[in-house]
Amino acid sequence: MIVFENVSKKYDNNQSAVNYLNLEIKKGEFFVIIGPSGCGKTTLLKMINRLIHLTEGTIRIEGKRISDYDIHELRWNIGYVLQQIALFPHMTIEENVAIVPELKKWSKKQIQCRVHDLLNMVGLEAEKYSHRKPAELSGGEQQRVGVVRALAADPEIILMDEPFSALDPLSRTKLQDDLLTLQRTIKKTIVFVSHDMQEALKLGDRICVMKDGEIVQLGTPQEIMQNP
Ligand code: ADP
Ligand code: ADP
Repeated sequence: MIVFENVSKKYDNNQSAVNYLNLEIKKGEFFVIIGPSGCGKTTLLKMINRLIHLTEGTIRIEGKRISDYDIHELRWNIGYVLQQIALFPHMTIEENVAIVPELKKWSKKQIQCRVHDLLNMVGLEAEKYSHRKPAELSGGEQQRVGVVRALAADPEIILMDEPFSALDPLSRTKLQDDLLTLQRTIKKTIVFVSHDMQEALKLGDRICVMKDGEIVQLGTPQEIMQNP
């Protein structure tokens, strides 16, 4: 599904963030990238939707080089959830979530159904929440909207960069549980960045441990546990 072939990234200051990385992320898997701060996790993630350009190598999605995709086609078909979800404050939850489906010219009716279904799926009662403004939601609720927004246009791939790390432990556990249930329902490919091994072991079908821009371990939670 997502294949990295000898991928390297050097920043302008010659800082090497990712080194000759080879990796294959399978369709429908929950793939977690873990490692200490500065090891290259975010760089690796952002290269997938071309928020960061590669210095060397190739990334392919479904066999096609990401550089050969139309940039909008690529971005619209890859959901992206950040640590700090940035919702537009003047727009309602429904309007925030509808942005990409509208760009894709979905019908109003179709968008409304989709938004309502997804809000309910992440535990935000649609009737109650869809017409609120972001400021009327708690941090945890806003993160849920972030997940809904990333899923709205039905992408095959969802990138998540420490989406729950700003939350209190209780909300965090709840959101992790809900995300797992959601993933089992929708069966999309999730690439999830974390710096918390417990979170990685709980969520990942496979876990990739990075250090200094390289993969030092790759396997299922069981395999990672047996070989710490
Ligand atoms: P992580 O997500 O694991 O914390 P990053 O991918 O953000 O790591 O960063 C990897 C390395 O690249 C770090 O040494 C970081 O300082 C450096 N880096 C990240 N972004 C930039 C940038 N825009 N310019 C220069 N160096 C950067
Ligand atoms: P994120 O996890 O979203 O990349 P960061 O806090 O790591 O957020 O980085 C914020 C911004 O600063 C990003 O655009 C990143 O590329 C850039 N950045 C990160 N590390 C460095 C660095 N060492 N030098 C220059 N820019 C950096």
